[in-house]
Amino acid sequence: MRSNLAGPRLLLRRLREVMAEPITAQERLDKIVVLIASNVVAEVCSVYILRADGVLELYATEGLNRSAVHNASLRVGQGLVGLIAAEARPLNLPNASAHPGFAYLPETGEEAYNSFLGVPILRAGRTLGVLVVQNQSHRTYLEDEVEALQTTAMVIAEMVAAGELEAIAQKATGLDLSRPITANGVGLSEGVGLGHVVLHEPRVVVTNLIAEDTDTEKSRLEAAINRLRLSIDDLLASGEIAATGEHREVLEAYRMFAYDRGWIRKIEDAIKNGLTAEAAVEKVQSDTRARMLRQTDPYLRERLHDLDDLAHRLIRELMGREHGPGFDELPQDAIIVGRNMGAAELLDYGRDRIRGLVLEEGGPTSHVTIVARALGIPMVGLVDDIVSLADGGDAIIVDGDTGEVHLRPAADLENAYAEKVRFRARRQAQYRRLRNKPSVTRDGVEFSLQMNAGLLVDLPHLEESGAAGVGLFRTELQFMVASSFPRMREQQQQYSQILDAAGGKPVTFRSLDIGGDKVLPYLRSIQEENPAMGWRALRLGLDRPGLLRTQIRALLHAAAGRDLKLMFPMVAVVEEFLEAKSLVDKEVKHLRQHGHATPENIRLGVMVEVPSLLYQLEELMDCVDFVSVGSNDLFQFFCAVDRGNTRVADRFDTLGVGFLRALKSIADAAHKAHVPVTLCGELAGRPLEAMALLALGFKDLSMSPASLGPVKAMLRTVDAGRLSARLLPRLEPGHNDRSIRDVLQRFAAETDVAL
Ligand code: PEP
Ligand code: MG
Repeated sequence: MRSNLAGPRLLLRRLREVMAEPITAQERLDKIVVLIASNVVAEVCSVYILRADGVLELYATEGLNRSAVHNASLRVGQGLVGLIAAEARPLNLPNASAHPGFAYLPETGEEAYNSFLGVPILRAGRTLGVLVVQNQSHRTYLEDEVEALQTTAMVIAEMVAAGELEAIAQKATGLDLSRPITANGVGLSEGVGLGHVVLHEPRVVVTNLIAEDTDTEKSRLEAAINRLRLSIDDLLASGEIAATGEHREVLEAYRMFAYDRGWIRKIEDAIKNGLTAEAAVEKVQSDTRARMLRQTDPYLRERLHDLDDLAHRLIRELMGREHGPGFDELPQDAIIVGRNMGAAELLDYGRDRIRGLVLEEGGPTSHVTIVARALGIPMVGLVDDIVSLADGGDAIIVDGDTGEVHLRPAADLENAYAEKVRFRARRQAQYRRLRNKPSVTRDGVEFSLQMNAGLLVDLPHLEESGAAGVGLFRTELQFMVASSFPRMREQQQQYSQILDAAGGKPVTFRSLDIGGDKVLPYLRSIQEENPAMGWRALRLGLDRPGLLRTQIRALLHAAAGRDLKLMFPMVAVVEEFLEAKSLVDKEVKHLRQHGHATPENIRLGVMVEVPSLLYQLEELMDCVDFVSVGSNDLFQFFCAVDRGNTRVADRFDTLGVGFLRALKSIADAAHKAHVPVTLCGELAGRPLEAMALLALGFKDLSMSPASLGPVKAMLRTVDAGRLSARLLPRLEPGHNDRSIRDVLQRFAAETDVAL
């Protein structure tokens, strides 16, 4: 049975009049409950609003004791009203007191009422309160009545969101919408950012909720859906989307929803009840979101994102213009909050415009993370539901060190963080003052400190940090942020720009180190049980010489007339290097034969990161121009601990005696053969670890640009001779140190080393 459809429409029309009246928020709410009660023919209508302390407070009622307004309250989960808020789902009960969740509030005088219908007040899937009607008779409310109540709840949600109700809040706790929230994610790029939320894909704010004419709205919806379907079909048909892959899957999902009768019928029903087409789409999406947010199945959650995107597209179609802040409107302290973002989009925002990035997705190796790190933007990823919790303009703190995000932080927390930021800035200023000072120890031993890089945007750090050169240029990053395999010319252009930007300082390129955790989306990867030890890096390059030769050719072209330093990753046996070297020789010969200029000077090296090389050091030193220790991988394979697995990654100490002996054997072999040796893993960038390296004989270190200052500060205050004399004997048999960490810390404290 369906009720008279004019009912809900009439209600909405009257609501519009009430919304337009110049009255207080309390008066408006009081009028709204009277209107609803008479429209649904209920004896009671009440509005409960969720406070920041998790309590639902009665804000207005028709039918219950008026004195209970702002006095009666329930916690989320408590009673029927609390249950609706907790589950974000309507409850329709002919006999409320028989429900196990029923809780009786004596101050309201509600004992006389039997039937009960309550709906959540939702906005973007978030529960802001509960709207209830009650009757004395035992009745089940009709589907249309549920709809009408949900629609009205939407209007109240807008009142809450617009801040109207803050004025009549009785408690200092405030409303839930402005509650401070701390969300935990994963710190992906270090640093702390304080600022204000800018939503990457801003929610389109539908302000025109109530329709003038239902038929017009129906045709607007139909036309918008047709345009939407066409645009998706066009995209799928155009050759731009690969035949398989993530993009296509997402679009197929869009198409499925766009043709889904159930979805469209729900929107049409909301229009029938008097909403505008865009408000109807938003209402249906909000209901779906609230229902699906409780899903833990990752597949369904992914589909929810797709549906969210589609609903947004549809709303944009309906509202007829692109929304979102233009770049000129970005606040000075923007912190971008989004579901996910491509690397190119982050580059578009630019380094100077944003102070932080928070994503619901994003992982340690995702492209946007790589770029955020390169740009020095603090970033936290994998933060559940942050987009629906945040509103544009909210104050926010991003802590890329701990992975915490504080939304609408309390003043004391904000002050503590502001102090942290000032402290960092002071230290940075101290480090900047060291920039042009020589890297030399107290006893006069000279060092070379270089920086690691991977993208052109890293290169300005060369000047800022005062690094002597780029000790490790990870060429795979360009490949990882591209959407298809960079061609020879693109590679060449990038390498030549890097060399130009380095302005004569040396750059050590590393050939492609893909495979393992470094995945190229467009390169079909085979499933491997142990990708870190699988078909990766130089192995892949030698098995697919076309790939490696293209890269070598691009490098030779780019460095024509200048110096080229190139090293190969993941070499396990010396022969692999010889094979790679012969590819370089062939390319050089080929270029010369065709009259191309070649580099003035080519030096080829090996990254020592597979332990088997420790037993081939003499042969290795005989054939290379230089070596560079990749301590990240070397330690991973040395101790058999996956560097990316937080459960085990810190299980063993990198300053353990065994590993330090291994490092010393490399430095000794290189010195003996007069082969230059660098260390370019993360170890080099940590001052205490760098102290150990210095004692072992490493004088050339390459690290992230941010580490240069701290390491240089340590270096300039340490006495290398005394340190070696203290540390080296501890590596001899007969001591039972498991780690040298304490020895170093004591030495630093005794001799005033700046750590
Ligand atoms: C290393 O393994 O130490 C290294 C520098 O290379 P990557 O971190 O790129 O594997
Ligand atoms: Mg490595």
